[in-house]
Amino acid sequence: MTAASATRIAELLSAAERVSIISHVRPDADTIGSALALGQALRGRGADVAVSFPGPEPLPGSLRQLPGSELIVSDDALPPAPVTVVVDAATLERIGGLAAVFAASDRTVCIDHHVSNEGYADLDLIDPTADCTAVLILDVIDALGTELTADIATCLFAGLVTDTGSFKWARPASFTVAGRLTAAGVDSAYWNRILMDSHPFDWLTMVSGVLDTAVLDESACGGAGLVVAVMHADLMAGLDWEDGESVVGIVRTAREADVTAVFKESAPGHWNVSLRSKAAVDLVPIAAAFGGGGHTRAAGYSDAGSADEVVARLREAL
Ligand code: MN
Repeated sequence: MTAASATRIAELLSAAERVSIISHVRPDADTIGSALALGQALRGRGADVAVSFPGPEPLPGSLRQLPGSELIVSDDALPPAPVTVVVDAATLERIGGLAAVFAASDRTVCIDHHVSNEGYADLDLIDPTADCTAVLILDVIDALGTELTADIATCLFAGLVTDTGSFKWARPASFTVAGRLTAAGVDSAYWNRILMDSHPFDWLTMVSGVLDTAVLDESACGGAGLVVAVMHADLMAGLDWEDGESVVGIVRTAREADVTAVFKESAPGHWNVSLRSKAAVDLVPIAAAFGGGGHTRAAGYSDAGSADEVVARLREAL
């Protein structure tokens, strides 16, 4: 693996006639927006491009509306390519069975912003100071010399608005990028609503059930405070998995706690744990201790057992 510049990656991509682009499992707006933006830029230059992500969770409905989604193929139909690019995935485990396509490709590229990413491709562009992978994709598109169309800008904006929580924790550079993207024609109000503030009515019932379980411990985390909530699998019946992703944003509003943990039951006894912190606690080592990863203020991991068991395990680790 080699730490690579956007320029070096653009040189490799501009010479490729076929490119496969891989997003991570449980795809979010940053990984899909990044893939579709890069895919459209390369297609515009005449390359044959396919985008995919590993199952079993389907693409969230909101992301199906993004421009360029016709580039997406099912994970068993993605061909090995002269160049394969993985976007927004801190490890190869995050691309599941598509790691075989990655391994069978002649040249590989990783573009990501996760601090835990140690690099795994021939060329790695990893910048943990970037708010999202999409801004790194913009660097590559600029290095390619490709025009920033409204469609490409919309896909990049999807990653930026989502990974910054509607710019609530955006760094200064991200506001500069947002200015470029909106000037290129992004309908920011529309995409903010579609990606951040839109749920089916049953979502309200689910949120109510999760908030019912919320417990506050102000003495946890060395006095920084912890709030825990549990989302049992039956609460998600009839909802898409991505409708569960935003609940942590509500729970974390509790002023008394620096750390928030939401335990989401994906199947009976199997849990995806979302961690958030506001100012004091670094979540990266905590998530890593459970085999997970992420960022200083937003991380996650998986665990198995009863709700009481998985909650107790986290509380012991804090
Ligand atoms: Mn991201």
